Amino acid sequence: MTRRTKIIATIGPASESEGVLREMIQAGMDIARIGLAHGTYELAEERIKLIRKVASEEGKPVGILLDLPGPKIRVGDFGEKQVELIEGSDVELFIGSQGSTIDRIEVDYEGLLTHVQEGTELNIGDGRVVVKVTSVLSDRLQATILHGGVLSGRPGVHIPSDQLSLTAPTSEDLEAIERFLPFGIDILALSFVRTAGDIERLNLPPHPDGPLVVAKIETQAALEDLPGIIDAAGAIMVARGDLGQEYGIEGLPMLQKNIIRECIASGRPAITATQMLESMVDAPEPTRAEVSDVANAVWDGSSAVMLSGETAIGSDPVNVISTMGRIVERADQEFDHRGWVGDLAEIRLTNRAMAETSITDAMTLATSRAVVELGIKTIVCISGSGFTVRSMARFRPSARILGLSSDERTVGQLSLSWGTEPRHLSVEGTIDDRVIAALQLARDNGDLESGQMVAVLAGTSDSSRSTNVLRIERVP
Ligand code: PGA
Ligand code: MN
Repeated sequence: MTRRTKIIATIGPASESEGVLREMIQAGMDIARIGLAHGTYELAEERIKLIRKVASEEGKPVGILLDLPGPKIRVGDFGEKQVELIEGSDVELFIGSQGSTIDRIEVDYEGLLTHVQEGTELNIGDGRVVVKVTSVLSDRLQATILHGGVLSGRPGVHIPSDQLSLTAPTSEDLEAIERFLPFGIDILALSFVRTAGDIERLNLPPHPDGPLVVAKIETQAALEDLPGIIDAAGAIMVARGDLGQEYGIEGLPMLQKNIIRECIASGRPAITATQMLESMVDAPEPTRAEVSDVANAVWDGSSAVMLSGETAIGSDPVNVISTMGRIVERADQEFDHRGWVGDLAEIRLTNRAMAETSITDAMTLATSRAVVELGIKTIVCISGSGFTVRSMARFRPSARILGLSSDERTVGQLSLSWGTEPRHLSVEGTIDDRVIAALQLARDNGDLESGQMVAVLAGTSDSSRSTNVLRIERVP
């Protein structure tokens, strides 16, 4: 059995060349993440075009995830060389986005002097350096370095969200959407979401017409509106870097489990992100703790695990992906499929007021049980928007999931769906036509063998989201 949990890799200077991208795709990158927080829009466009080209040459479906920075505050450039900030020394903070030095840091936040209070701890570079504000002056903040460390480039600075006057999406986020939507982005991530309303303000058509929207859970406020956010979003990211600052790192492991379960119960993919194989930015092997973290993220039910700096600026992005692939594949093999179905059957969020959702809910649960009873090895899901496939995938069946859609956009979005092998089905028409075409296509591709027994899940109508057909078929 091949790997089930998907791998997202962030593209950066270390991974933008055609040769490296090709090897990353061969090594198992399912989704390429383009962050708009660094670099220009032109650079992002070039990277998107190059990934599309290489993926099609390799014949591999690679999803493209565009990550909108939201109100992410960064400090002015420290330059390429690493700069060491020493514990106990003083530093001054100014509003600005030019250069930073060890004792004079510019912060790209207009509210720095009006919203940040004395006593606040500001965390720079996902915890590498912590400074404490000692006094607020009219033109600067004075601070002491509580924890020293090395910084380079333009690291982010975490300001507690109650001292942040900015909200997501920012006007830059909305401009970026206008600019990048014509490129056929499969998945769009919104940073620093606080409420379901933030997602609605993106004003995007529902997927698959628009991209699948990932709400990055990284503020305290988002935790308070989590059910609403899950409902409004297409998927969720447990953005552990910023979330750790807001919530406290010791609370993260349990929070990660709870967010993932709640999200998967509603059929939304969940991504676990940040510092998964961080030591591999420089080292050829991960720490044992990182290996455990990745495996546990799989057992928590993550649909995908994400690499950030490891592939964006690391010394060997291809090695990072193949290492993660090995860890994930092994964890997938040990996944407790039966236990998961039992748990999910209890907590799944059936809204009986919504007939379509509850029909799909019941049909996918029935399928997850039928395939175990009958020893069926493959589930063929024929889906318009991908809803059927994601609803099926949330039960984490040990059977393979082939996700077929006649909508190319859905096929791209299924790159994020756990255990799903996305396929394009060009035939539309009646349910019988589609089932026969799907089985023939899968047989001709080598996905299925003639005579093999499979479960086929589909909806009889294209306009409705509900999955109302389950057939047990033999492949012709
Ligand atoms: P970022 O989001 O890498 O865009 O900051 C992920 C996180 O905060 O963990
Ligand atoms: Mn973040």
